[in-house]
Amino acid sequence: MNFLRNIKISVLKGVGPKKEQLLNKLNIYSIFDLLTYYPKSYEDMSQISMLKNPSEEKGLFHLEVISPPTVRQARGGLNILTVNVTDGVTTGELIYFNQPFMEKYFKKGYKLFIYGNVKKNGFTYQISSGKIMNRKDIGGLNPVYGLTSGLSNNEISKFTLNAIKDYKDEIIDILPIEIKNRYNLLDLNNAIEKIHFPESIEILSKCRNRLAFDELLILQSVIEGNSFRNKLRFSPKMEDIFEDEITSFIKNLSFTLTNAQIRVISEIIKDMTSPMGMDRLLQGDVGSGKTVVASVALLFSKLNGYQSALMAPTEILARQHYNSIILLFENMNINVELLTGDIKPKDKEIIVNKLQSGEIDIIVGTHALIQENVKFNNLALTIIDEQHRFGVNQRRELYLKGKHPHNLVMTATPIPRTLALVIYGDMEISVIDELPPGRKHIDTFVVDYSYMDRLDKFIINQIKEGRQVFVVCPLIEESDMPLKSLEEVFKHYTSDKFVRTGIKTRFLHGKMKNDEKQTIMEEFSRNEIQILVSTTVIEVGIDVPNASLMIIYDADRFGLSQLHQLRGRVGRGTNKAFCVLINNNKSEQSYKRMKVMQQSNDGFFIAEIDLELRGQGELMGTRQHGVPDLKFINLKLDSKLIELIKRDYKKIISIIDNYPILKKELNKYVEEVSKTLNSEEN
Ligand code: ADP
Ligand code: MG
Repeated sequence: MNFLRNIKISVLKGVGPKKEQLLNKLNIYSIFDLLTYYPKSYEDMSQISMLKNPSEEKGLFHLEVISPPTVRQARGGLNILTVNVTDGVTTGELIYFNQPFMEKYFKKGYKLFIYGNVKKNGFTYQISSGKIMNRKDIGGLNPVYGLTSGLSNNEISKFTLNAIKDYKDEIIDILPIEIKNRYNLLDLNNAIEKIHFPESIEILSKCRNRLAFDELLILQSVIEGNSFRNKLRFSPKMEDIFEDEITSFIKNLSFTLTNAQIRVISEIIKDMTSPMGMDRLLQGDVGSGKTVVASVALLFSKLNGYQSALMAPTEILARQHYNSIILLFENMNINVELLTGDIKPKDKEIIVNKLQSGEIDIIVGTHALIQENVKFNNLALTIIDEQHRFGVNQRRELYLKGKHPHNLVMTATPIPRTLALVIYGDMEISVIDELPPGRKHIDTFVVDYSYMDRLDKFIINQIKEGRQVFVVCPLIEESDMPLKSLEEVFKHYTSDKFVRTGIKTRFLHGKMKNDEKQTIMEEFSRNEIQILVSTTVIEVGIDVPNASLMIIYDADRFGLSQLHQLRGRVGRGTNKAFCVLINNNKSEQSYKRMKVMQQSNDGFFIAEIDLELRGQGELMGTRQHGVPDLKFINLKLDSKLIELIKRDYKKIISIIDNYPILKKELNKYVEEVSKTLNSEEN
């Protein structure tokens, strides 16, 4: 199979330079690419549906025309063609808008195959804009591919059919017969053929199962290959004799911890006092208060005489953590320092020396922490905030700075359980499933560009009441309209109507110098800036409680979980908070996604729905967590398969080890996936 990566698509009949270019646009370069360019859905022509069963889903109908069609002109110049039909049991009608030429296909007594969905309109069963099918398309499931203009579904399907004809026998399986038998799996070449051209839903599901199996096996191999935690390690042992100190720290906080926070703290302490140490993922929705939980772990490590490191993905966030930790540990004789890329070399040197000598107890920082010259005296705890922003290698590097340090990774991007199982394998998982009391529901509105004037008034009013506003745009430079660029948006908020009222607007993006970014964040924190226009650099962690309004341009361009994160920047104070999603995309999918944001403030719920709406084809959400696109694994439906492979992985691999050719084939895939994973690290 792998050598099919080297065979250019142009060898196929019908693929000339022009079609080749179009296929390239779809990232199809080789026979391998074409064969693995899987249908995104299917038209089910395998069975005949009946008119009596209205459904959102399309189906195939076999209908007889019972009277000549009628055409009428409706208001607004709309031309409506109506055809009375029967499926032999029930009568109904077909309607077509503005397609009068369709009339010729419907003579009385004709029998036709129609593909569409039935709705009940009053007492009438109605199919609107049904597709007339040729007899040769009937039977089986017709693949529906993602297209690009100039390339039809028929063409892709024809090329694929040719590729299968010529190369099916060259597809090397990665699984030996033993394993296929044991788990009741199809041969790879058959699975690939039938995933494009299944005869029935049952066969399709067998194909998916086989391809999902491979996907999981490859993914698991990648995870094992990247694993850096020594399972037989002993982490530095912490003593549980500091209960008084911990209790008094918690008592002195300016707020009362939630039950969930207390529960997670005790889980963490339990891990840290056990010989195997801590290897824990902490999930908690935006604003659930993960930082204070992390600081208890930091304190516990210090009480035991060890050093700790807290790593965050951006300078802004690292600095913010540093500031809040300093405050939390005020007057406690704990030495906390900040190490980021923008610290002057001289100061850096001092910090590095103090770290190595053990003078510093807690170091907070960015990627700067994993530079080679950073060495610790006795690092016993690493905490990574917003872990999905880091790659495996970066996490490994921090880990290797200590002797099997305890490890806590935190994320506010909620992960459905099955996905967590895939990615985090044997990590323990804690969840803060409760927000601090008094958090206000963030009212979310979805508007299009026609609301801009009203929105401006709303902004000005919020600011008059003393609040501040975040504005987020998807892009930095000006680009294809109608996307609003940062510059353009910034211009708008520095226009006369804002300046006149004394509003100060600044912008912030990832490519700016660090001290510039920092100054702006500080000014915004002190309310010297009222509107902050930015890219998603403010996505994670930023805590400015006085900000009450989040405006997101072209909201549809973001993932739902990302929107939820962004929205979480407001509603952190005592004031009512709002989020306005500006979206001009009128598609149904887009409407559904925005609706979810409007209806829910629950990050876990949003993540599940996000997964559902994105469907099988492009589980981009997993990318964020450092997993390649999963084309076949359905995180909702395949939990059994996921658990099976987790359990049997070693056994399966040991069998494959006996087949050098298959093993080589598998390794090639693993390499491929590893490459894409590591190239995403920044
Ligand atoms: P996140 O989980 O998103 O990282 P943070 O740790 O930044 O959340 O906490 C958000 C805000 O809530 C901070 O200002 C923090 O001081 C505050 N906070 C944390 N825990 C509580 C609590 N139990 N009660 C009230 N406020 C809290
Ligand atoms: Mg946080």
